[in-house]
Amino acid sequence: MVIADNFDAREFVHPAVFQSVGWPRVRWYISDFMINYAVLLRKILNAPIQINNWHRGGRLIGRGYRPPGYRPPGGALFSQHYLSRALDVSTAYYSPREILEAIQKNADEFKAIGLTTIENPDFTPTWLHADCRPILQELMKTGENFYIVDAK
Ligand SMILES: [Zn+2]
Repeated sequence: MVIADNFDAREFVHPAVFQSVGWPRVRWYISDFMINYAVLLRKILNAPIQINNWHRGGRLIGRGYRPPGYRPPGGALFSQHYLSRALDVSTAYYSPREILEAIQKNADEFKAIGLTTIENPDFTPTWLHADCRPILQELMKTGENFYIVDAK
């Protein structure tokens, strides 16, 4: 169920979604942004990135699309994850702060695929949240490439 180079569709969704709709309908819950962000981030970092791993026996289930009724501990009720707009990623090779720095260094490429918003990694010590919610100019700081969310 490969949907992009080296990415499996199941990495992008909660298992309940896949179990309910199966292949190929699962692709309805995976946005272009989610795929393009994962592919670009892996290219920029030149390292494997971890999204969900439940389909390989792992415990990560909420890092991509989340179905109504699923809410991880500390997760926002109206999270962008419910809209297929967000991904949480980590990698064994870089900290979430280092991933954010790599994104900032390549901001134009990430803006081009629709990235608008990143959670401050001070609040997400083991992953980095990024999404493509609409930009609200009144919330942006001058000169900032992305809207940085300081708390949930
Ligand atoms: Zn997230």
